[in-house]
Amino acid sequence: MQSRAVKVIDMSQYLPTFTDVLAAAERLQGVAHKTPVLQSSTLNAQMQAEVFIKCENFQRMGAFKFRGGFNALAKLSPLQKQAGVVAYSSGNHAQAVALSARILKMPATIFMPHDASPSKLAATKAYGAKVIGYDRYSEDASALAAQLAQDQGLNFIPPFDHPDVLSGQGTAALELFEEVGELDALFVCLGGGGLLSGSALSAKAKSPLCQIYGVEPEAGNDVQQSFRKGERVRIPTPITIADGAQTPMVGAITFELIKNLVDDIHTVSDAQLIEAMRFYAERMKMVVEPTGCLSLAAALQAKASLKGQRVGVIISGGNIDMARFAELLAR
Ligand SMILES: *Cc1c(COP(=O)(O)O)cnc(C)c1O
Repeated sequence: MQSRAVKVIDMSQYLPTFTDVLAAAERLQGVAHKTPVLQSSTLNAQMQAEVFIKCENFQRMGAFKFRGGFNALAKLSPLQKQAGVVAYSSGNHAQAVALSARILKMPATIFMPHDASPSKLAATKAYGAKVIGYDRYSEDASALAAQLAQDQGLNFIPPFDHPDVLSGQGTAALELFEEVGELDALFVCLGGGGLLSGSALSAKAKSPLCQIYGVEPEAGNDVQQSFRKGERVRIPTPITIADGAQTPMVGAITFELIKNLVDDIHTVSDAQLIEAMRFYAERMKMVVEPTGCLSLAAALQAKASLKGQRVGVIISGGNIDMARFAELLAR
C-alpha cells in the first residue's frame, strides 16, 4: 500500500463544546427517553426555593449513562461497529454500553468488579454482553480493557473521560434547561466527571448565570481536592455507599472542562445520601440509588444559600438491589 500522510485525531485530546452536546441530542432523539422533570411541594417548602428534579433514574437501563454510551457507539464507523466494543464499569456504564451495543447490533465485552451489584451484573448479561470479572480494589480495570481493545482490535469506550461520552451525558441538563428555562443553581452527581462536564457545557449555553456544582461523596473527595489544587489528585478507591462515584481520579478531559466551567465541588456523607434516598422514596415514590442522591443531599445542605432561587437537581440513576435499598432505608 502506498504510504500517505494521514492526520490522526487523538480523541483523548479533543475538548468538546456545546455543539457536540447538540449533535449528541440529535443522535439520541427517539432512542433515549426524554426523562421527566418533577417537583415536590414539600421539598420546595422545606428549601424555600423552587427545585426542579431531572429524573434520569427513569432513563433507559436506569441511569443517564445510556446517553453517553449510545452517543459514543453511534458515532463509530460501520467497520468499527463490526469489530465491537470493550468497556469497564462497576455497573451503570456496563449496562449502558451493553444496551447500546445491542441496539446497534455490535458485540460487547465488559469488565465488571466481582462485587458489582447483582442486579447490574444480571442486567448487563441480559443485554447480551460478555462479562469479565475483576477486583476493584487491586486491579486496574481501565488497563485491562485498554489491553483487550489493543489485542483484539476493539473500540474502548471509557465510562467518563471521552469527548463523545461526556457530550452525550450533557443532553440530560440540556433537556432540563429546555423544559424549565434558566436556573440559579444546578447540582450534579459526580464520579469521574462525565455528567458534570457535559452538564456544564449545556448550562453555560442555556443558562449562563447558573452556578454549577458537582457533588461527591465525602469519603472520596478527589475532585474537590483536584479543583482546589488546580491539578488532578488521585486517592485510594473510596469506601462509600455511592458505588457509582468510587472513582479514584477525575478524567483529564472532564477535569479540563470542570476547571473552566464549574463553580464549586460539594461533598456529602453517606448518612446524608440515605436521608435524600428516604425523601425520594417516601415523598416522591421514587427508587433512587445512593449515587443518584448526591445532588439532592448537597442542595439540602446548601439550603440557606439557595433561598428564593430556582434550583436544578439531576438524579443520575435508580439502579439498586431491593434488598440493599431496604437495608439502607432501615439504617
Ligand atoms: C456513573 C454514575 C455517576 C457518576 O458519573 P460521572 O460521569 O462518572 O461523574 C453518578 N451517578 C450514577 C448513578 C452513575 O451511574
